[in-house]
Amino acid sequence: MSNIIELASQLSSQSNAIDFLIANGVISVPLCCEAPMRSDPKRPKIYICCKYPCRKKKSIVKDTFCGNSNLPVNTILLIAFLWCTGSTHSAIQQQTGVSKNTVTDWWQYCQELVGMTLENDKIGGPGIVVEIDESKFGKRKYNSGKRVEGVWVLGGVERTEERRMFAIAVEDRRKDTLTKFIKRYVKSGSHIITDCWRGYDTAALAKIGMQHSTVNHTVGFKDPLTGAHTNSIEGNWRGFKQQIPTQHYNTLFVNGGLDEVTWRRLNKGNEWPKFLEAIRDIRYY
Ligand SMILES: [Zn+2]
Repeated sequence: MSNIIELASQLSSQSNAIDFLIANGVISVPLCCEAPMRSDPKRPKIYICCKYPCRKKKSIVKDTFCGNSNLPVNTILLIAFLWCTGSTHSAIQQQTGVSKNTVTDWWQYCQELVGMTLENDKIGGPGIVVEIDESKFGKRKYNSGKRVEGVWVLGGVERTEERRMFAIAVEDRRKDTLTKFIKRYVKSGSHIITDCWRGYDTAALAKIGMQHSTVNHTVGFKDPLTGAHTNSIEGNWRGFKQQIPTQHYNTLFVNGGLDEVTWRRLNKGNEWPKFLEAIRDIRYY
């Protein structure tokens, strides 16, 4: 992980930031008329075809995380770096000089980018135990008695050394919904352990290739008959709830927070290089 001193020189200007991205293989100099395009000295993002009469122009960051924005590339990367290091919203605002709303927007863009890296990456596999559980991310509404607003989140964690996981907001806890999301996030052949909620239906899970055991919460964490337990996923919920702000416990925001926490756990200590890889790999068309 880069430190702030290295980064300061890399991001001291927009053209240095672009050179940094090129040097790290995140973006590449576009070709035109079978030759590399040249940067426009007055407009760092713009590259121009060096052949007459073509002289075509193109933004080098077009369709990337850094394209489609009026913010300079070095400012975007500084926001992203600070986000990767776990800086607070106000720290990012202070260090970059952008507005509060701009930080909010880019925080969300960072979550979306890393969220896309998590897609198509099912957990589990033949014989692998995956604990699955659903949890209400709720906030008590003032002066409304017992009513708890919030959103149901379905999550799973492998019982492996890597402890790979997924977490996603779901519209309800019905059988069809839970089965659909388990199919999307867990590889066929996995051994799924859940509590006794009727939404986890052994026959429905068998149809999508899953073995299924249950634990009974009312008799403690460990099922005395099967030895199954769901301690790992329940530990996860505590972590997620601490790391996602309560005001984001709604369908609009919770998935961004879940993706962020999942991605940070997966890439701990290596966030910035992994973020650069995500910029390299994900295109916005
Ligand atoms: Zn050309």
